[in-house]
Amino acid sequence: MSVDDDPGPPSPPARLRVAVVGAGPAGIYTAEALTRQQEVPVAVDLIDRLPTPFGLVRHGIAPDHPKMRAIRDTLHRALDHPAVRFVGNVEIGRDLSCRDLHAAVDAVVYTYGAALDRQLAIPGEDLPGSLAATELVAWYTGHPDADRSTVETALARARSVVVVGVGNVALDVARVLARTPAELEPTDMPQHVLDTLAAAPVEAVTVLGRRGPVQATFTTQELRELGELAEADVLVDPADLELDGAAEERAATDRVVSRNLAVLREWAGHVPRPGRATVTLRFFSRPVRLLGEDRVTGVEVERTVVDQDGRASGTGETAVLPADLVVRSVGYRGGELPELPLDPHRGTVPNELGRVLRGGEPAPGEYVAGWIKRGPTGVVGTNKHDARETVATLLADVAAGVVRPGGGGADDLVAALRATGADPVLLEDWRAIDAAEVALGATRGRARTTLHEWETLLAAVKEAAARTR
Ligand code: NAP
Repeated sequence: MSVDDDPGPPSPPARLRVAVVGAGPAGIYTAEALTRQQEVPVAVDLIDRLPTPFGLVRHGIAPDHPKMRAIRDTLHRALDHPAVRFVGNVEIGRDLSCRDLHAAVDAVVYTYGAALDRQLAIPGEDLPGSLAATELVAWYTGHPDADRSTVETALARARSVVVVGVGNVALDVARVLARTPAELEPTDMPQHVLDTLAAAPVEAVTVLGRRGPVQATFTTQELRELGELAEADVLVDPADLELDGAAEERAATDRVVSRNLAVLREWAGHVPRPGRATVTLRFFSRPVRLLGEDRVTGVEVERTVVDQDGRASGTGETAVLPADLVVRSVGYRGGELPELPLDPHRGTVPNELGRVLRGGEPAPGEYVAGWIKRGPTGVVGTNKHDARETVATLLADVAAGVVRPGGGGADDLVAALRATGADPVLLEDWRAIDAAEVALGATRGRARTTLHEWETLLAAVKEAAARTR
């Protein structure tokens, strides 16, 4: 055989180019699952609208839960993988359409979560002084899109607070509002958040469950924490803890429910101590309307009964709870991305094992994972299993030839984005933001202080780039 005939070493198999839209836990676990498998070599672009990764780990988990927030260290390992590229500050649907993104890569996995709030659909819901938990949480975690003036105006008069809903977000909100400045001081909350919360005149927080304690969706650890607040007492009406047959049966078979009841029973009969705030858990109470002319002054609630199947119905017995602030913590829902189907009732993208369905048919090369796939349920770790399922579906499509590595466009995605005028923030840039937050925190003896403005976040990137030039 002559030298000319020598085919040389075989060329490496084409890499599967995957764009993951949303760098929260679901997106990061998707990137991790893609890089951990051995079947197909991959190159992953992990895109986020924000210049920062971690999604709800950064802008959802309460800042007074530092151990939970530390999961970002574990998530960072996936970002550091050489086959993964963080591409922040890029909004799909604005900087690049779904169609153009899809054309640029071999497969797209949408993991953009469920960022919108669910509505109560009762009169008065939109009065000033009525906030969605999503607004309050975005504000206290330093999300750069938080509406500071609305939240801060509402908090300035918040003596009596009603939180609607008995999930973990409701407990986060109640706890953060009832904490003392000293308890919040070590957190990474921006300084203006700490100052506003310290000045808020909160005396009484009532958490409203429209059904009974047996149907509450909070978990025991989060519930127990309410009892550990430095200067607030937790109150529960013992009558709300009397169980009927069906509730007894549920408590006997569901360990979370029985543990929750044990914690609640410890608090039943508590008497508030003078000079301390109160956090009252009030069950069988559904909000009927928010009262007030130009701002919220109270909540009219109706007593409910819960049937054998766990369904609540009103009894007609009403009461008025005074409230200067109402926080609606009744769940999240996914929003629409232009060109991507959305089930408006579920707030999720129709899918089968993570494969996007368009008109009921699988859309080749398009996938979902996380809350936009299954709805806003579970803890951070739930997304790991969820992402693995989606990646298994994607790999099955590769094996079946439905998705072909190297089939997408030849252009580098970041170069293509820059050509359109977008300003992607890459991993090194995020490290500059990270370092700036740690440095800002150190000025007040804290581990970190969150940068909460677009300008400051992007300035940290530019300053670091100027230093290394
Ligand atoms: P969630 O657990 O679904 O709770 C929503 C609450 O709103 C439920 O109590 C629900 O009551 C109530 N609700 C819904 N519609 C209502 C209405 N029209 N009127 C009155 N009440 C209404 O949701 P979430 O608290 O937003 O949490 C989302 C997910 O994040 C959950 O999986 C949660 O566990 C997780 N999370 C975890 C942590 C943690 O681990 N520390 C912290 C925060 C969030 P019904 O049951 O009667 O519908």
